[in-house]
This record gives sequence, structure tokens and C-alpha cells, in this order.
Amino acid sequence: MSHSAQSILRQLPSVDALLQEPEIQEALIHHPRRLVVESIRSVLDSRRRSLREHTEPVDHGEIQVTRILPDVLGHLAAVSDFTLRPVINGTGIIIHTNLGRSLLPEEAIERLSILCRSYNNLEYDLDQGRRGSRHVHAEAILCELTGAEAALVVNNNAGAVFLTLSALAQGREVIVSRGQLVEIGGSFRIPDVMRSSGAVLKEVGTTNRTHPGDYEAAIGPETALIMKVHTSNYRIVGFTSEVSLQEMAVLGRKYSIPVVEDLGSGSFIDFSRLGLRGEPTVQAALRGGADLVTFSGDKLLGGPQAGVILGRKDLVAKCKKNPLTRAFRVDKMTLAALEVTLRLYRDEGKAVARIPTLRMISLPLEELRGRAERLASLIVAVDPEHKLEVEIQPGVSQVGGGSLPAHDLESWVVAIQSSTMGSHRIEAALRRNRPPIIGRIESDRYLLDVRTLQPGDEIHIQEAFRAFLAGISMESMDPNLDVEITPV
Ligand SMILES: *Cc1c(COP(=O)(O)O)cnc(C)c1O
Repeated sequence: MSHSAQSILRQLPSVDALLQEPEIQEALIHHPRRLVVESIRSVLDSRRRSLREHTEPVDHGEIQVTRILPDVLGHLAAVSDFTLRPVINGTGIIIHTNLGRSLLPEEAIERLSILCRSYNNLEYDLDQGRRGSRHVHAEAILCELTGAEAALVVNNNAGAVFLTLSALAQGREVIVSRGQLVEIGGSFRIPDVMRSSGAVLKEVGTTNRTHPGDYEAAIGPETALIMKVHTSNYRIVGFTSEVSLQEMAVLGRKYSIPVVEDLGSGSFIDFSRLGLRGEPTVQAALRGGADLVTFSGDKLLGGPQAGVILGRKDLVAKCKKNPLTRAFRVDKMTLAALEVTLRLYRDEGKAVARIPTLRMISLPLEELRGRAERLASLIVAVDPEHKLEVEIQPGVSQVGGGSLPAHDLESWVVAIQSSTMGSHRIEAALRRNRPPIIGRIESDRYLLDVRTLQPGDEIHIQEAFRAFLAGISMESMDPNLDVEITPV
């Protein structure tokens, strides 16, 4: 370390001195002292580290109280903020797993606030005046909508699959086509789930072709289940052949082996009516002969995170009795939100209008174009010096969540680029906005797909661009920012 760096280090203000600054005194009114002191220490530490690691020329400004204070306040704001917070989804991916999947219908949000404010009959039988079961709550509406005999709700569909395998096939064989041994993302791979549930995987067929005879040949005394996995996130095209659910059901009945279908998304309405290639509905899977189906609550269903097991009463009863059910059980908030969401499906038109996931899927292209035009003009309005090129262009949104594979939805996007800076800079600035705005980059253009924007988001986006553009103007005027601290 150079002499000048050493002498600068000694001039760094102390924690106590900084605590006396009026801005910090103000911060102490709103934040616990411990957090404020921690923020000061953290900023001073990083100043010391960077001064030690660099040789001349050293930026003397770095140790000035006026330069340290904003960093302390910034650090304090960051550590005081919630870690889980709202973001603006400009990606056009509707069921975005990284951004929280489905938005809840307003009715569900209202119901949550009513039920969470009071005690409730979660596990209390009001007729008998004694302990009841939490499983009854969403079960009635699930059976009503699908015609199933029984249903069980657990934490997520991964849990539903795991529980089904564990309860019905522990130590025994489950026949699955090689073409359906999918990885759903994260660490959910069918062969691994099978192994950890205690079931033994019996693979049949080849990656692209499986025939009914393959299944029949694999059936033996150890066979517990025949399983079909909906290959939600990819499709095999070309020289392919899959055994239909109906064919599996024929075999299942012939040998008295239950057929389970993991639907993944589990839609209740036929999406071909919305102009999309059909995703098998829950009702169709049951009609097609599945003895049990499993699906997610927060994919195409558009409700809270949950996993549903539904079908034959004796099989559901075995799942309910399994000790794992306790480990995978849902809380009252999930049941409340799920029940409301499901009730909306009593009227399909209402479901599409009120469930955000369905509403976003069915947005007309013309409306999207209008929204894109409005957003573009809001951005242009805060860019009087025309630092950005803003235009609207056709784009593609995705349903996401492993639903409707390879099905892109035509959309309109606002495309932003600048001749003086890369789109990564725009992307990073918007991502660090409060609330964060998440877009995507394509051919060095920053794109915002209006399909997944919610009411009020446009104004936040406009404000973010206003702040970003003001920041750029400040930068070009601030000589300090040009001082480079050269690494050794
Ligand atoms: C998404 C998915 C799962 C896992 O569901 P989660 O609700 O994310 O736990 C399991 N199987 C299939 C086929 C899926 O698409």
C-alpha cells in the first residue's frame, strides 16, 4: 500500500463521528441503532478494503463524509427493505417460476384477509362440535368441478407426486415410458423422485416411441402403478408414438393396476377455446381413465402454490393416511385461496375474466398493441433529449411454468435501445429500481412485454426511466466519476 493511501486511511471518519451527522441522526429515528451502526461499519470497511487494494492515484473524495453518507443510507435502505417484495414482470412469461408464478384473483386476496384476521374451522367440525379434517375444505369444490370421488391438497405438485408414489408404490414397481422421464426444473427429475419415494422405476419403450405392448410386457406381480407424466416443458416431434391414457387405462383395468397421470399444470378449461393448442384438462384425464391425477395449484389453474391429488376414493384415502401427508400439509391460507379460485371455475367466463393467469393468456392482440403504444409514449415523454430509441414491435409471450410447451403467444413489446449505451445498462438500472422491473434483452434491445404488466406498472416504469435518464445526465456532469482507481 502506498504512503498516500495509508495517510488517507487514517483520515477516514470514525463511526462515532458519522453517527453525529444530521442525516444519520434522522435515520436513527426510523431505524434501530444496531442496523445504522452496522451500515456505517460496512461502508467504512469496504472503503478501507478498496483503499488498501489500490495504488495511486487515490481518489481523495472517497473518504469525504459527503460521499460516505449516501452509501451508508443506501446500505441502510437495502438491509431494511423486505427481501421478498413486489416486482414488475415485463418478461411476457405469465407463469414465471422465478417471479412467483400465478397472481391470485382479487377474490382470493379478499378471502385471505378475512380468514387470516379471525379464527376459523380449519380442523373443526361445526356440525359435530369436535375435531374435523382440514382436507374437507377444498375437496368438495374439487370433486364438484371434476366429478372425482375424492381429492387431497398438499403443498405443491412435486409433493403430490412424491406422496402418491410413496403411498401407493413403496418398494414396488411403477411403469413409466422412457419418453416421459422428465426433469421439471430445479432438482425435480422423475427418476430421482421415484427413487427417493421408495418406488422402483420400471422404464419401458424408447425416448421417442412406446407401444401398449411395452407396458403389458412390463406388468408383473411387483407392479404397483402405471404412470403417465405430462411432458410439460418440451415436446418430442418427428417419428414418435405415445401410448394414450385410454390404452393405459385398458391395461390397468385388465390387470387391476391403478393408472396415475401427473398432469403438471392441471387446467380446468379447454385452452383450445382460447385459441391455444389443448393442454389436457383434469376432467379429460379422469374421463380418459386415470384413476388418480396430480397437478399444481399455481400453474394454469391460477391459484396459490399447491399440489392436488384427485380421483378414486380408495387411492386418495391411502394417500391421506400416509404419514407424509402431515409433512406436506397445506396451511389455511393455501386452502382459503384455492377454494376461492376453484369456485370461480363454476362459471368459465368468470374464471377467464377474474383469474389473472387466464386473463393474461386470453388478452386480445389489439389490446396489447394499444398498451404497448401507451407505454412507449410514457417513456418518450420523460426523454426530451431523445437519449433512447423507443418503439413498439410484435413479440412473443410465453405461458411459462412448463405449461403449454412450445406454445408462444403473439404479443406486443416496447423495444428500447440507445446509441450511447448497451441494453445491459438499461436492464440493470431498471432491475435495481424500486419496485424492480424485469425485462429481457434481445439483439441488444431492451424489451418490455406488456402482456404481463399489471395496472399501475406503467407509471412505475415511466418513473424508473425518468430517474435513469436523470442519472445519466448527472454522470456526464460529475467529474468525480471519471476518476479511475487503477488496480495493482
Ligand atoms: C411443474 C410440474 C411438477 C411440479 O409441480 P410443482 O407445483 O412445481 O411442485 C411436477 N410434474 C410436472 C409434469 C410438472 O409440470
